[in-house]
Amino acid sequence: MSALRLYNTLTRSKEDFVPIDANNVRMYVCGPTVYDFAHIGNARPIIVFDVLFRLLRHLYGKDHVTYVRNITDVDDKINARAARDFPGLPLNEAIARVTETTANQFMADARALGCLEPTEQPRATDNIAQMIAIIETLIAKGHAYVADGEVLFEVGSMPDYGRLSRRALDEQQAGARVAVEAHKKNPADFVLWKLSSESEPGWDSPWGRGRPGWHIECSAMSNRYLGETFDIHGGGLDLIFPHHENEIAQSRCAFGHDVMANVWMHNGFLQVEGEKMSKSLGNFVTIHELLATPKFGARPWAGHVLRHAMLMTHYRQPIDWSVARLNEAASELNDFAIAILDSETANKARENPNWEKELAPSDQLVDALSDDLNYASARSVLRGWYDKAKRMDKSAQRLLYVDCCFLGILEPRKLGALTQGFGHRGVTDTSNLIDKWNPAIRAAIANADSNRLNILRRDLQLTGRDFEVATEGGVTFIPVGDETGYEERVEALITARLAARAAKNWAESDRIRDELLAMGIALKDNKDGTTTWEVKR
Ligand SMILES: [Zn+2]
Repeated sequence: MSALRLYNTLTRSKEDFVPIDANNVRMYVCGPTVYDFAHIGNARPIIVFDVLFRLLRHLYGKDHVTYVRNITDVDDKINARAARDFPGLPLNEAIARVTETTANQFMADARALGCLEPTEQPRATDNIAQMIAIIETLIAKGHAYVADGEVLFEVGSMPDYGRLSRRALDEQQAGARVAVEAHKKNPADFVLWKLSSESEPGWDSPWGRGRPGWHIECSAMSNRYLGETFDIHGGGLDLIFPHHENEIAQSRCAFGHDVMANVWMHNGFLQVEGEKMSKSLGNFVTIHELLATPKFGARPWAGHVLRHAMLMTHYRQPIDWSVARLNEAASELNDFAIAILDSETANKARENPNWEKELAPSDQLVDALSDDLNYASARSVLRGWYDKAKRMDKSAQRLLYVDCCFLGILEPRKLGALTQGFGHRGVTDTSNLIDKWNPAIRAAIANADSNRLNILRRDLQLTGRDFEVATEGGVTFIPVGDETGYEERVEALITARLAARAAKNWAESDRIRDELLAMGIALKDNKDGTTTWEVKR
């Protein structure tokens, strides 16, 4: 097998990966700032580095890899959100609510995206003492100074500051904002600690009650869990400067090493349908919206589809997030799932819950991924297995199964949820109603979102239908109560509503609209006086 090679931003080249300690391979990835739902751009690093985590575990052993992804729960954006959302609560309590809810949502998103739990997920607020200790060291070593209520890192004290981003200090000065803060020795000096007002969260420190800057959080948490130097540090391309540059400055100057991490990996940017994602353009989409609402592509998506779609572009390239891409990913997973649904391996896995321990990915897949996570090659390996698997080649079915599970794009006991087809027993479906319900129900099954599944079931029952979930997450629709005449009932209600409107009985008209809405029917009153309806899912 070929050796693992990774592209290192620090050297701008692909290098053989040599761990500092093969018994404990150590990786740190910058995690989310928890003040709002994570957007789909945030999903990219968690998926990409999860694939690397899986590969490292395979190469070095499950118990010989430590993966740390932090949670930033102290940040001025969090304070602002807490004050906005919980104006009646004391600030600390309001902040705790915002960070707790958001962190839980983030972890649920990550699970639905097929990501394993990192070894450690430390929170900044649990590591304040470690941050203070590093800042004290930096001051003692002449790399930081106190000025105007802040402790600042002095970039001029580090001869090779800017090595990762390859920016020389004088360039940075030239590009610095005009409003140079007078208390800084160099405009590029950055905050390690700043004093908090009464209305801001704060911790006692040698410099007064205050809070840490963002960069020092990662230096403290990586040091605590991974040591003074470690193997891999990852994050999005946008973090190279200033965040990672400043993490490096802090850690190297505090601990006195040539590097903080040996390999620096960065995933590329994400656009949505060819445009930069922004709230003002209206193309801003969260992971949660993709998983549980029809906002993007008029249907919710299984996390596995999002994961496969994300990986289809090499992690260092810019990615265009589009409905076409999701459809392509969904269709490929549908093919794969059908080819292995009834295979010997799938049956064995059903019988033996410990199957995971017995299965390892193919050498071909490992080779493909070992080339700087070359997913295009990995995908051709999968397609090679698929071509044979669909002709019932047992060995190819087994390889397709284990490789897809290894990549986290298919999951045992959920194969059926990733196929598009469904059964219906005794259900009439003259207007393709069920076609519209099917993707939402399957996504909820794949994403293990039982709340949503219950809501969907309740709404579906109003239409006189119900569904059963098969062992592998497949769906069969069945009639319940008075299923026949559903469309007639809808039409009758629309006629009754038109009559109510003609009689200017707005209350009755609204009541009927609400009743239809509860049945999952949205009305559209047309200019020509007619009313059309559609199933809203
Ligand atoms: Zn960081």
